[in-house]
Amino acid sequence: MIRVGLGYDLHRLIEGRKLLLGGIELPFERGEDGHSDGDVLFHAITDAVLGASGLGDIGSFFPPEEAKWKDADSAELLRTVMKKVYADGWKIENLDCVVKLEKPKFIPHRQAVIENIAKVLEVASDQVFVKAKTGEKLPPVGTSEAVEAFVTCLLSK
Ligand code: MG
Repeated sequence: MIRVGLGYDLHRLIEGRKLLLGGIELPFERGEDGHSDGDVLFHAITDAVLGASGLGDIGSFFPPEEAKWKDADSAELLRTVMKKVYADGWKIENLDCVVKLEKPKFIPHRQAVIENIAKVLEVASDQVFVKAKTGEKLPPVGTSEAVEAFVTCLLSK
């Protein structure tokens, strides 16, 4: 059986926070606001994998109203989800991701992001790809008020 999943997330960019994408910090004067660390790419990956497996969504696993998820490491949230997904017999075939951000340039960081995602998911780095798009200077992404991520995931068992 194969199943496809789709994940999406958006976080507001504010001063005094880190800009994290797939666990890699990109140098920028703003970062993701959020209850957890705000890593928009890990959140979209988590929802894509959960959607494909039929096990729920990120909000059902980690309700934002629960104080214990404050500033949570999104890599750890994803690892927690993957334990359930792998225990249910699923295998990741591939992930295809798009991050939408105006600044900074993503491409110099792409390989580090891909390798970190692959490490957290315990897959080979050629099973993960990440593309970047700008917001063409249009709000909210193009004015650096927000960052977005879109992820599709194929699971099999
Ligand atoms: Mg989020």
